[in-house]
Amino acid sequence: MSKNTTFDAVANGVDITALKSHIETNFEKILEELTALVAIPSIAWESFDPQNLEKSAATVAELAKSAGMETVEILREPADNGAMGAPAVVAQRKAAPGKPTVLLYAHHDVQPPGNEADWNTPVFEATKVGDRLYGRGAADDKAGIMVHIAAMRAVLDLVGDFGVGVTYFFEGEEEAGSPSFRNFLEAHQDKLAADVIIVADSSNWSVGTPALTSSLRGMCAAEITVRSLNHAVHSGMFGGPVLDGPIMAAKLISSFHNEDGSVAVAGLVANDLAEVDFDEAEFRRDSGVLDSFKLAGTGKITDRLWNKPALSVIGMDIPGVDHSSNTLLPATRFKVSMRLAPGQNPAEALKALEAHVKNVDLRGAEVEFIATEAGNAYKADLDASANDTARWALEQPWGVVPVNMGLGGSIPFIGDLLEVFPKAQILVTGVEDPDSRAHSANESLHLGDFQHAIEAEALLLARINAEGL
Ligand SMILES: [Zn+2]
Repeated sequence: MSKNTTFDAVANGVDITALKSHIETNFEKILEELTALVAIPSIAWESFDPQNLEKSAATVAELAKSAGMETVEILREPADNGAMGAPAVVAQRKAAPGKPTVLLYAHHDVQPPGNEADWNTPVFEATKVGDRLYGRGAADDKAGIMVHIAAMRAVLDLVGDFGVGVTYFFEGEEEAGSPSFRNFLEAHQDKLAADVIIVADSSNWSVGTPALTSSLRGMCAAEITVRSLNHAVHSGMFGGPVLDGPIMAAKLISSFHNEDGSVAVAGLVANDLAEVDFDEAEFRRDSGVLDSFKLAGTGKITDRLWNKPALSVIGMDIPGVDHSSNTLLPATRFKVSMRLAPGQNPAEALKALEAHVKNVDLRGAEVEFIATEAGNAYKADLDASANDTARWALEQPWGVVPVNMGLGGSIPFIGDLLEVFPKAQILVTGVEDPDSRAHSANESLHLGDFQHAIEAEALLLARINAEGL
């Protein structure tokens, strides 16, 4: 049930002004700690020195101790292939009787630097320019870790009788695809169990406008082979009456979209739900689409990205032009990748795609369809009590009603969290903004929004302590 987002902070002993000024007073120290984290090139990719992950885990563990955690451990579990996973920091402060437990997630590993020549400041040296802090991990996601650390310190210093259980889970391999994540969750299920999970690894809508990430698209993929001949033949001898595999594959591919560019596969979930929209010119600039290209689909751009399906061909087996000869190619295999709207079951989407493929008139060419991947979409429960509390907490420091935003991509580990902890309420928050350039050169953090993110999380924890969930 949705509860009223108005909350009498004074009557409930939550001193908003004191919490904000505590964070203001300590902000320089928080930035120094973030700077120390950014200085560690903790990259979980195989070709980088794994010692940096150990160093970063140890530094984060010390921060967790400074935030009043009773137990702090550095743990690791093997991935399915047997390779040992990166070190994660798990720290706990047990709940007082009757109080809920909140799991605070972030990751201490970062993306590789990419081409260092593209950076305007040193990659692993947090550098303040104007109101932003530049450096790899300054936003994604070392700032997420500092939000969880600094919010807890403020709450412990200022909220009397703080009894909410808090667990830190700072993973060390998110940017490498979290290979041991699922095994880690299952091995440490008891330690990680919580009533609310806050994932601080996403973005706000814009500088000055906070957001909760309330939906993520799912995905599925299939390999499709179209065959019109048993073997290759000379195009001069047989071309005309016989059409080759690539032409028939192209005919099939051309059936995937309607005239307006929307996905033509029948039976897929598509919705118009977005509260906000992107400016088309800005979207064009960010995407790099040609000025002459007419954008595909209908409705808000945000709905096309968050709440409607997308279909692309991401690979195709065909000889390169330099290796081409006058031959009718017997068959062509290609891979289709689809992004799916929240509410779409990926297995159903694959069935719909297969039905579509089998239905297109390809003059009797054979079509083989092999489903290869399926990942669930995510849709936040907007009526969940923690969602209301979080909206209130975000509105206080920013002074702006938070936006419910979607993401066109997926955060695969959210699906694992939902499966291992089906009863937990999940909130996806973050410190990034559209200019943060996470994963790219010149990654940065907006310092004003960072401070507000800490304030909001402290207020969220204080309110959960005052009135429960
Ligand atoms: Zn991240």
